[in-house]
Amino acid sequence: MNSTNLAGGKSMQTKLQIGGFTFDLIFDDPMKYAPEEFSEKLDVLYGLLLFFQRKILINPNFPKDVQFHSLLHEILHLIGYLTGDKRLRSSTPQNEYFVDAVSGHLASIMLQNPHIFVPYLKEGESGNAD
Ligand SMILES: [Zn+2]
Repeated sequence: MNSTNLAGGKSMQTKLQIGGFTFDLIFDDPMKYAPEEFSEKLDVLYGLLLFFQRKILINPNFPKDVQFHSLLHEILHLIGYLTGDKRLRSSTPQNEYFVDAVSGHLASIMLQNPHIFVPYLKEGESGNAD
């Protein structure tokens, strides 16, 4: 399938740096990588974090805004692993609702207001330069 992805359609895989770790960010159907207990229960996955394999999967068969939401969702789970915050890390229905609400609203705010966020994201404009 030729869907565009957050990597700009150039590559289906890139790297994500976080907290001293490097994760492979892969735009592919997460179901192919999911453990059996996931694939037996669910018909579709928007994203998947495989923390110990250092992989994040994002399903490229959804629109870009959905992919962005999914990416932030998986990043919040990742932050849960790094900080030990169980509400972010463990996948109970209540925690998933919380993670999804935060990631969904952050994605929506950023997508609706890129003029606020883009200047912070431009390379060489981080404010850390000498
Ligand atoms: Zn989740």
